[in-house]
Amino acid sequence: MSFVPDGWQASSSELAGKTVLVTGANRGIGEAVALSCAQHGAEVLLLGRDDAKLAQVYDQIVDLGCPKPGIIPLDLTTRDPSLYTSLADELSGANVVLDGLVHNASVLGERRALAQTSPESWNEVLQVNMTAVFLLTRALMPLLGAATAASIVLTSSGVGRKGKAYWGAYAVSKFATEGYMQVLADELGATSSVRVNSLNPGAVNTGMRRTAYPGEPPDTNPMPDALTDRWLYLLSDASRKLHGQALSAQKS
Ligand code: NAP
Repeated sequence: MSFVPDGWQASSSELAGKTVLVTGANRGIGEAVALSCAQHGAEVLLLGRDDAKLAQVYDQIVDLGCPKPGIIPLDLTTRDPSLYTSLADELSGANVVLDGLVHNASVLGERRALAQTSPESWNEVLQVNMTAVFLLTRALMPLLGAATAASIVLTSSGVGRKGKAYWGAYAVSKFATEGYMQVLADELGATSSVRVNSLNPGAVNTGMRRTAYPGEPPDTNPMPDALTDRWLYLLSDASRKLHGQALSAQKS
């Protein structure tokens, strides 16, 4: 059964007045989620490392007549915590209050046995997929706490819930994401205004999926924009009671 109630549909103003930051907003699921949030009234902060592609998403949002978005250029391989706190300080200086934080950016890394995985690839995958999530959330928590009911959405994977050969550091990073979600959810408890859940998108027709499954016809899987209502629901006040849950966007 889907976690989105039967018949629930985001109204055109579902996220009006909310500010939502999406990482990896320049393509794939992140781009679709950012566009959909903007189309439902949110001011979206587009975070990524590809400035030119982020600018295209920005233009698309403006052309649609949605609230003007913001662009946050940041390469998540950045290990220096002070860059994350400076970003938070800059947003705070601009009086930004964060109602939603979608940790979407990830890298697949090497699809090979752990014994053959290079330490460089291991470190990059764990950095982008997990440590950057920790650093960014840690820095942004005051801005999330300032919102009435902020929602953090972590992006998981099937291989982050059941380990599979040759998924290496990627699978381990997604298990870590689930562990991080549980620990954070328990710390925030029932009293904090901030809630956190993890969401496994399932198979989606994106660059990452096509790289992981080169022999699969791409149209086997839904396009990202067919699934964005799951993210909208998690970011909207309709899901206020959902906290500490490992959720799935599709039936497995
Ligand atoms: P994708 O098309 O490969 O997009 C990945 C996004 O992450 C891109 O925007 C990419 O930006 C960004 N990113 C990667 N490294 C970055 C870095 N160092 N700094 C900033 N941004 C970086 O993947 P996707 O399929 O949309 O995946 C989105 C999320 O869903 C991921 O967390 C993935 O693990 C998860 N997921 C996807 C599937 C699926 O079937 N597609 C299934 C399960 C889980 P660049 O363009 O700059 O690389």
